[in-house]
Amino acid sequence: MDEDFLEFIEGDPAVAPAAAATAREPWRILVVDDDPDVHESTAFGLRGLDIEGRALHLIHAHSAADALDVLRREPDIAVVLLDVVMETDNAGLATISAIRGELGLLNMRIILRTGQPGQAPEMDTIRRYDINDYKTKSELTRTKLYTTLTTAIRSYDQLARMDASRQGLEKIVTASNQFIAESGLQTFAEGVITQMAGLVGIAPEGLVCASDTLAAPDAPPRYVVIAAAGQLAHLMQRGIAEIEDPYIVASLTQCLSERRNLQTAHSVTLFFQGRDSGKGGNFAAFVYSAAALRPVDMHLMQVFCTNIALCAANVGLVNRLRGHAFVDQMLGLPNRTALVQCIDDTLRSSDGVARALGLMDVDQFAETNDMFGHVYGDLLLAAIARRLADLHAGDCLLARVAGDTFALFGDAAWVNPDVLRAVFEQPFEIEGVQRPVSICMGFAYCDASSTSGLDLLKNTSIALKRAKEAGQGRSAYYSAEVGVATRERTRLLHGLQHAFDQQHLFLVYQPQLSLRTGLPMGVEVLLRWRTEDGRFVPPDHFIPVAEQSGLIVAIGAWVLRTALQAQSQLRAQGITHIRLAVNVSSVQLAQPQFLAMLDDALGHSGVPPSCLELEITESVAVMGMERVASLLHEIKSRGIAVAIDDFGTGFSSLSYLDRLPADRLKIDRAFVNSMDSGRSGARIAEMIVPLGHQLGMLVLAEGVETEAQAALLRGMGCDEAQGYLYAKPMPLEQLLPWLAQRLGGGV
Ligand code: C2E
Ligand code: MG
Ligand code: MG
Repeated sequence: MDEDFLEFIEGDPAVAPAAAATAREPWRILVVDDDPDVHESTAFGLRGLDIEGRALHLIHAHSAADALDVLRREPDIAVVLLDVVMETDNAGLATISAIRGELGLLNMRIILRTGQPGQAPEMDTIRRYDINDYKTKSELTRTKLYTTLTTAIRSYDQLARMDASRQGLEKIVTASNQFIAESGLQTFAEGVITQMAGLVGIAPEGLVCASDTLAAPDAPPRYVVIAAAGQLAHLMQRGIAEIEDPYIVASLTQCLSERRNLQTAHSVTLFFQGRDSGKGGNFAAFVYSAAALRPVDMHLMQVFCTNIALCAANVGLVNRLRGHAFVDQMLGLPNRTALVQCIDDTLRSSDGVARALGLMDVDQFAETNDMFGHVYGDLLLAAIARRLADLHAGDCLLARVAGDTFALFGDAAWVNPDVLRAVFEQPFEIEGVQRPVSICMGFAYCDASSTSGLDLLKNTSIALKRAKEAGQGRSAYYSAEVGVATRERTRLLHGLQHAFDQQHLFLVYQPQLSLRTGLPMGVEVLLRWRTEDGRFVPPDHFIPVAEQSGLIVAIGAWVLRTALQAQSQLRAQGITHIRLAVNVSSVQLAQPQFLAMLDDALGHSGVPPSCLELEITESVAVMGMERVASLLHEIKSRGIAVAIDDFGTGFSSLSYLDRLPADRLKIDRAFVNSMDSGRSGARIAEMIVPLGHQLGMLVLAEGVETEAQAALLRGMGCDEAQGYLYAKPMPLEQLLPWLAQRLGGGV
């Protein structure tokens, strides 16, 4: 230690201010000596003195064994004044070895005192055991004793502080790591209290106040208790002003407004600076402490504050990320997840209010986006969101669940077509231009039919889909029947998609014969789906689903390729003049790539186009007759034949027929079926046959099951027939011998 300081002290050691010593714990000093006089003189020599503002408390031991007993009981002794020779010559040295070794008291300072200089231990021993000083008893005058003790105590204090800091820092590091992993602000804040208390060895009685902007960055700052422990636990979630204890209120208010740590004899209040102070995020922690903190502890708290403020920023970040999960970032509205959660919460607390969910979807939004750009689209959505928000519909929740789909959930008095339709009556002003907006709406009541938020949202989406199918500006309510049908369709679609991917779809072939010669002329290709459990799903069920979903495009292309392969096989067997009729959905025809797909399939198969016929139905009329006509011309110009399937059942009239360049007209089997008894079927067939002929088409009758039907049709001049009377649809392996046999030598 520095000599100057020793010199300075030596003058008058008794000047240390005694008053200050009262507040702090005295230094504990153990005097070990077998000579009672030494105890007495030491006590006398140190009487009334204090060191570093703290009094001295002497503990007396009269043997080495006695000393060890005391040390085991009282570990926080600062200095041991130790006699070398007691029960044995080296009793003192043995005690030192026990203190440093067995007891592990490394900070405690040791001053050896000997009767005579000859009893001094080796230098090596002094170093090894970290002995602070070595004096002969005669050397230790009152002043010398005081200075020696002062040096030892300062050194002890230094070591103890370093130890505390090290432990404290270790705790902070562990805590910080924990806090980063913890996502909840409350868990974090509770940790702060425990940590503060732990660092300075006080009971965790305290609370943490944070501006609630930590959770919602843009709200005006209001400080609330986010964690509270011990006797203060009941203050959770209260605003500062609502805390009854004026002392705590004053401490927190001062700490937060002066933005600094405060300490009094009763408490510590720490200020934590948020990383982004402009947006709030500051917080304060108040902890009761029975006595004022030592400077070393305050220093520790300072380090703690800096560290923890960083952790708080992380926690804030995690919270904001969570916010992103619930808030639509573009419009700042609750998103789909938030809506579902809100409905779930409402379902749990049934209060008898009739609630509904409404979905509003902007008609032709994609087109608007394409035409005017995304910025314009965003402006439009924002304007719609504003107007819906301005509705102030009770405590309804407004959310954005998809690009152009808004949701309103709450009291059915607000959530209904009348109220919401009115919102869209006036045009919206976008970039200074008035723009009318049409929307489709779907509604579902929050009743027993929906057991969860997701369920209700799904049902409402079904209603919305219904509304959209009905046309622009329409709305629809969900009903259980609609729900069942829609779910069935969805199930069917998934099954079909899977079957297609797994190559569980296959084709069968049904011959078409000349009614005049009885010879096979063509073969219709029909799609089959056998499910994994061996059930057949009729095409009448799954084709419409495939059409609605667009899956028919891929499936149809596969059917065409596979049919052309079959045609190559027929040709390889020498069967060259059989026409293959493939059903084509109007959804496929409407595809811009349809002709390219057709050319590609034909090109790859090497089959001449004249061996292919495409069966289309009257439903192609929805594409617009101009387009259909020009497409059929394109097809025919390639040498491919066209048949009009299911003729007579379509909703359209016969008037367009002369504009369709078709080769064959297929009378629907419904008419053929009702022909026998001379009912209306026969009359319709009688009309269709000459009509087809007048337009230059051949006429084929579908679903011929009896000889009588065949005879009637033949009598009407019908050219061809297809039906169970001749053959059921069959796999290619059966078709080949069937054809070979029928064609006989006439191949
Ligand atoms: P479609 O084109 O009118 O096919 C004729 C349907 O009548 C076939 O039913 C066939 O099995 C059935 N049929 C044939 N002869 C008789 C008979 O004597 N009596 C009775 N009761 N029925 C007979 P299937 O195979 O169930 O096909 C139903 C419809 O599914 C087809 O009607 C067609 O519109 C559609 N379809 C089948 N395969 C495909 C395909 O590959 N693509 C497309 N787009 N549609 C297909
Ligand atoms: Mg057909
Ligand atoms: Mg048909």
